[in-house]
Amino acid sequence: MARTLISGGTIISATGRTTGDVLIEGESVAAILAPGQAASLGVTADRVIDATGKYVVPGGIDVHTHMELPFGGTNASDTFETGTIAAAWGGVTTIVDFAVQKTGENVHESLAAWHEKAAGNCAIDYGFHQIIGGVDEESLKAMTYLVDNEGVTSFKLFMAYPGVFYADDGQILRAMQNASETGAMIMMHAENGIAIDVLVAQSLARGQTDPYFHSLTRPAELEGEATHRAIQLAKVAGNVPLYIVHMSASEALEEVAAAQHAGMNVFAETCPQYLYLSLEDQLMQPGFEGAKWVCSTPLRTKHEHHHRDLWKGLRMNELAVVSTDHCPFCMKDQKELGLGNFSAIPNGIGGVEHRMELLYQGVVNGEITLERWVETCSTTPARMFGLDRKGAIAPGMDADILVWDPTRRTKIGINDKHHMNMDHSAYEGFEIDGKVDTVLSRGTVVVENDTFTGSVGHGRYVKRGLSTYLH
Ligand SMILES: [Zn+2]
Repeated sequence: MARTLISGGTIISATGRTTGDVLIEGESVAAILAPGQAASLGVTADRVIDATGKYVVPGGIDVHTHMELPFGGTNASDTFETGTIAAAWGGVTTIVDFAVQKTGENVHESLAAWHEKAAGNCAIDYGFHQIIGGVDEESLKAMTYLVDNEGVTSFKLFMAYPGVFYADDGQILRAMQNASETGAMIMMHAENGIAIDVLVAQSLARGQTDPYFHSLTRPAELEGEATHRAIQLAKVAGNVPLYIVHMSASEALEEVAAAQHAGMNVFAETCPQYLYLSLEDQLMQPGFEGAKWVCSTPLRTKHEHHHRDLWKGLRMNELAVVSTDHCPFCMKDQKELGLGNFSAIPNGIGGVEHRMELLYQGVVNGEITLERWVETCSTTPARMFGLDRKGAIAPGMDADILVWDPTRRTKIGINDKHHMNMDHSAYEGFEIDGKVDTVLSRGTVVVENDTFTGSVGHGRYVKRGLSTYLH
C-alpha cells in the first residue's frame, strides 16, 4: 500500500493544534507522529510532502451545493465535473449536493437522476441530500427508504417558491414526523414564500424591476418568521433535528439561538456571501450588474447588524456550519433571463472554490480562530450529516487533507483564473492572506504546485449515516 508522509506541518483540528507528521497508508490516515518519531521508528514513505511552516487541516466539506441544478428555465452552470474540480482547487474534498424532487415528481426517480449526473464525473467524494418538493404518502415512504437503504439521511423542505418546491405547514409537519421516526435531519429553506410572492408582484406592478428589488421583496422579517415557524413545527414533531440553510438575517439567528437555549436540536449554516457581501455594495450596483448577486436568502443591508451578528453566531456556535449554496449561473444567457424583471433572474451565487479561503480570511481578520475555521468548514459538517470517515485527521479516517500556506496570497476572480464554470465571480478582486498548497483526496494528491493533478471519476458516492451532532 502506498505510503505518504506529510511532514513538519502544524496540524489543526477543531480542538487544537500540534506539530507533527501525518502518515497515510493507501486511502486512510494511519498515524499522527510526533516530530522526529518517523525517523526514530524507521518509518519509510513512498512520498514525503514537506509541510514545514504550513497548516495541515482536514479537507473542506461543503454540505450545500447545486451542480447542474435546473432552476428558473436554465441549469446551474457547473457540472459535477467542473464543480468538483473547482472545489478541489479550493481545498474541498467532499460535497453534499441536493437531489431534487419537484412538486409532482417521484423521489426515487429524482435521486436516480442525480446519481446519473454525478457517477464517474466527480473529482472528489460526494453525497446527496434529498429535496422533497411534494410531500405525500408516496414521498413519505420514499424518505424512510432512502434513510434505510440509500445513505441519504437529510431532507430539504421549502417554505419558499410556491408552485415549485413549496411545502405548506401541514406537509412540513408530516415530513418532520417521518424524520422524527427515522432519525433523519430536516433541512429548511426558511422564508415565507407566500408573503414574498405578494411583495414581488406589487414591486413589479410599480415598475421596480432592477436586481436589488430581489432583496427588498424578501425582507429579513420573513426569514425570521419562517425560521420561528419551522422551529415550532419541529418541536411539535418531537424535537426532530432541524437545520436551517443559508441563514442571512439577524432575526433568524435569534430564533435559532433561542431554540438552542431551550435544548432543541436546531442548527444553522451561513455562507460566505452573507458574511462579506451586501445589498448596497453588490446588489445595488448600476444597471443589471447586481444580478450577479441575486440569491435566496438575499444579501442584506450593511446598515443593520446582519454581518456582525453572523460572525458572532459563528463564534458562539449558533451557526455550526459554513457552506456555499454553490449555485452558479453565468450572466450571459442565464442571469440575463431576468433583464427587466428581477424575479426571473436565476437565484444563485457560485462559491464552492472560495469558501475555505474566505473563511480563512476571517481568521486573519480576528473573527474566528484557526480551530473554528476547521470546525465550521469540515469537522461539524461531517458530524452533522453522518460522514463518519471524514472531517478529522485521525487514524482510520479518510486521508482527505488540505495543506494550507499562510505565507502566500490568493487573488479571487475570473482574471485570476478561477475554475468554476462562470463568466464572472461574486468575489472579484477579493484578496486572501493565505493559499491552498496541496490537497489530498483519500490519499491521492489532487492539487499541488498550482496544478490540478486529480482525475474525474476518482470521487466516490458516500453513503451517509445519521447525524452524530445531536444534543
Ligand atoms: Zn441551496
